Amino acid sequence: MDKIVSLCRRRGFVFPSSEIYGGLGSTYDYGHYGVLAKNNIRSLWFSAMVQERDDIVALDSAIILNPRVWEASGHVAGFSDPLVDCRTCKLRFRADKLDEAQCGRKPSKRPGEHTECDLTEPRQFNLMFQTRVGAVEDASSVAYLRPETAQGIFVNFKNVLQIARRKPPFGIAQVGKSFRNEITPGNFLFRVLEFEQMEMEFFVPPDEADRWFEHWVQARFDWYLKYGLRRSKLRIREHGEEERSHYATATSDIEYEYPIGWGELEGVANRGDYDLTQHTEHSGTKLEYVGEGGERYTPWVIEPAVSIERIFVAMLADGYDEEEVAGRQRTVLRLHPAIAPVKAAILPLIARDADMVAHARSLYEELRTSHVVEYDDGGAIGRRYRRQDEIGTPFAFTIDEQTLEDRTVTVRDRDSLAQERLPIGGVVEWLEGALRQPWASPKAE
Ligand code: ATP
Repeated sequence: MDKIVSLCRRRGFVFPSSEIYGGLGSTYDYGHYGVLAKNNIRSLWFSAMVQERDDIVALDSAIILNPRVWEASGHVAGFSDPLVDCRTCKLRFRADKLDEAQCGRKPSKRPGEHTECDLTEPRQFNLMFQTRVGAVEDASSVAYLRPETAQGIFVNFKNVLQIARRKPPFGIAQVGKSFRNEITPGNFLFRVLEFEQMEMEFFVPPDEADRWFEHWVQARFDWYLKYGLRRSKLRIREHGEEERSHYATATSDIEYEYPIGWGELEGVANRGDYDLTQHTEHSGTKLEYVGEGGERYTPWVIEPAVSIERIFVAMLADGYDEEEVAGRQRTVLRLHPAIAPVKAAILPLIARDADMVAHARSLYEELRTSHVVEYDDGGAIGRRYRRQDEIGTPFAFTIDEQTLEDRTVTVRDRDSLAQERLPIGGVVEWLEGALRQPWASPKAE
């Protein structure tokens, strides 16, 4: 994980937030390549969920909702983790994750194992960030930053049902920031205080819920394989009854083997009719489906939920590689081309050669109208390749002396390092084709 964090910092993917003021624990800012990679993850999720389906529509609800939403959903009373303090070292731990934590006095021991540990009894700690709305400071002005995007979807159920003229099974998808005052944030982007959640609530007739639950677990698992995560690093783990949230009748986590061990990448839950029923009771607005024949029921909800951050860390960890090529070390990010922030580099071999530069600039201008590509003429060609390898650029086009003679360029493949020559006029089409090819990690077992 340290190597990934340092690469992200060095190449401007991710910076500690407000760093010049000493940062704010577990809050991060994204630099250029981080923004590009996140955009790719978001748009591939959106394509799979909305664009490529007939039965799911998009929504973008507010971050600060009427606080009664969070009373109805159970978050005010129950969105909490058990917390223990150590009176000796003053550190805080999640009582249910002590076996993953380190004692403040002796990191090789767990909290409570050292003779000097003095842990308090567990108490519940609500993870929602509170804020205030309006100029008056009284109890009625208290509001919350949303800890999940899902509730914004449930409270819009009636709007979408009527205006998008949907009938179950249908889904509503949303991407946006969620906020959680985590007791023990950390492990880079894995557990942060604010993250971009991608959630889809799929409303189904109750007797179809089991089938759709299985469908979404499998569909989401397959999505990760499609975008290059290694099968050996992915698994599906069903929650036991004691672990499930109060509202869920079934939950399966898609787990990834992060450098810190197996952890939840995405959760898929069968939320039953809990949310629509709660909001019906608290708001007085009936959130149910009424069919043309007059039949009515409260749909059940299947929810796949994930954050861009957890996907991003999984992809960085999966793709990070160091190897020796012709006696020199290289660091390479073997990202799926669709995830890679930059799709191709355009490199004039000799930066002082006006003809090479003219060809390279013109190819660059052409390619950049449809893809994020980079022009780089700084330093020896080997160093330029290494720079692109480190940020995961799958292809590099080099303009050299031969280009001036026969109008061909070299294309270099990031993973195999194979090089071939192409007519310069065919590069646009070649890149389109190459980016559409299925891709699997060369590290896959
Ligand atoms: P965990 O048990 O790891 O705290 P959770 O079960 O509380 O996670 P959910 O409430 O199911 O998480 O949230 C859905 C998804 O949102 C998770 O699968 C994860 O991808 C993402 N997520 C949740 N909390 C965080 C966080 N603090 N930082 C980054 N991503 C998060």
